Amino acid sequence: MKNKRYAIVLDTEKCLDCKACTVACKAENGVPLGRENYRNWVEEDELRGTYPNLGQSSTPGQCMHCGNAPCKRVCPTGATGASPEGIITVNDKKCIGCKYCMTACPYNARYYSEKLEAVDKCTFCQHRLAQGRLPACVETCPTKVRLFGDINDPESEVSKILAKRRSRVQKAEMGTKPYLFYLI
Ligand code: SF4
Ligand code: SF4
Ligand code: SF4
Repeated sequence: MKNKRYAIVLDTEKCLDCKACTVACKAENGVPLGRENYRNWVEEDELRGTYPNLGQSSTPGQCMHCGNAPCKRVCPTGATGASPEGIITVNDKKCIGCKYCMTACPYNARYYSEKLEAVDKCTFCQHRLAQGRLPACVETCPTKVRLFGDINDPESEVSKILAKRRSRVQKAEMGTKPYLFYLI
């Protein structure tokens, strides 16, 4: 059997822009308040249509745990690493705060934490996964926008939905091999 490889699939059409995922993430991971501190986010897209028939969608985002991660390549101390399941991690004890990784990430998925005195980012709630639980954002989302699982297991929810529905990866041209998929 293949090693686990975690991925997240987002069905953005179901997103209510309630931001429960961002609140859950901050609470779970002790991320300080303020827009400059974040492990995930929800972007409001441009208005569509003509008045009075207007519509707006929202796009949640977070670290894509890239298979070819530029943030990891540029880190001079080895603070940025990868777990066997592909989770891109930061060891705050080794981080010197040079922010090279923040510049290298094309998705702006990292922030500098004054609290940790290190760069911080999404870890797919690694501590919860170790307890057999889902990431906090996935568990919290009321409309099941977010699906999480092992993409190497053909029976997982993420594998099944990706086999059934077309998807795209954001900024695919960047060649970072993101493991976050948006359903079309
Ligand atoms: Fe690194 Fe950014 Fe990819 Fe996350 S999204 S693994 S921070 S390059
Ligand atoms: Fe590595 Fe920290 Fe520098 Fe980022 S800020 S490149 S994690 S040492
Ligand atoms: Fe969208 Fe779900 Fe996040 Fe609410 S919790 S903003 S519905 S992804």
